[in-house]
Amino acid sequence: MGAVQENVALRRKQQQLPLRPAGPLTVKSLLAWYEAERRDLPWRYGPRKAANPYRVWLSEIMLQQTTVKAVVPYFQKFVARWPTVAALAEAPLEEVLQQWAGLGYYSRARNLKACAETVVRDFGGEFPRAEADLLKLPGIGPYTAAAISAIAFGEKATPVDGNVERVVARLFAVKQPLPGAKTEIRRLAATLTPQRRAGDFAQAMMDLGAEICTPKKPSCLVCPVQQDCAASAHNLAELLPIRAAKTARPTRQGVAFLVQREDGAVLLRQRPEAGLLGGMLEVPSTPWDEQQPARSEAMRSAPVKASWHAVTGTVVHVFTHFRLELIVYRALVPSDTSVTLWAEPERCRWVHRRDLHAQALPSVMKKVIAHGLADN
Ligand code: SF4
Repeated sequence: MGAVQENVALRRKQQQLPLRPAGPLTVKSLLAWYEAERRDLPWRYGPRKAANPYRVWLSEIMLQQTTVKAVVPYFQKFVARWPTVAALAEAPLEEVLQQWAGLGYYSRARNLKACAETVVRDFGGEFPRAEADLLKLPGIGPYTAAAISAIAFGEKATPVDGNVERVVARLFAVKQPLPGAKTEIRRLAATLTPQRRAGDFAQAMMDLGAEICTPKKPSCLVCPVQQDCAASAHNLAELLPIRAAKTARPTRQGVAFLVQREDGAVLLRQRPEAGLLGGMLEVPSTPWDEQQPARSEAMRSAPVKASWHAVTGTVVHVFTHFRLELIVYRALVPSDTSVTLWAEPERCRWVHRRDLHAQALPSVMKKVIAHGLADN
């Protein structure tokens, strides 16, 4: 526990503080806490300092749907390889996708590249500072635009992600369920954003949500804004925010065809540019439908004529909107050119096993290959 947290905890024990509605004093307490306790992250600069827009943008795009822990090594790898937005704009897309592999949501990597190119072409290599201009760039939505504007340029903008949503819902004891409460939460968050140090405030809210005001068992006793927190005052902290019941995630099923040549090469196919995992490589498969296709039906999607056998077990991968279950069929074919590809040969390529790690393969396809190759 840091010095500021210890002092707050001591104060809590000594006196029962009355609720003070969230406002400018909340911001002051939070900024003091941030100066002492902020997380040390590779894309951050010290408090009261402007950050590098390229690094802020890159980290924010990587952090969408992913944890800080997962992002740090990718961020370091990217900035070492492409230290500026101009360098990233010049990089081959295939290379960017390869370096991104494992972070998921590959459309973000494609947008990353498109955004870098736009910044160089239309803005002379400098990110615009206004939210409205940032919003016009590929892959930048309202949250990311506000985060870049506040953190990199100190503009009075309010990024509201899941962490900030939770903190604000608790500070103001918002009882309307999410997602319906989003608009009201964003409005309340904006009422707190200070004219000066909007970037530090945004990062302080993010850190508070990640470290203190956690989804389960928030550490209210050491929270720097407990005196201002309506949820804590009314013993509602663990109950908020309320979420509307989720609809069940559907399951899709299919068959993936792992074909290996005698020389060790594996057949991969490039997915269409648009849609899920757009432009990434895949093990050819049947369409992913509600039901597993019968063998005869699945065979119509097999990429080559071969003696196929089903590998025991199923590969399961959970996407945001559905769960995927794939059965893997495996076949061994000769290394010579007598093997004719049936389906979309122009999109297919043979890749040796030893080179698979360097390919832009999404996690689900890495699982399919590992599962299929383990079956000897
Ligand atoms: Fe969250 Fe508790 Fe702090 Fe309120 S007092 S903001 S519920 S950690």
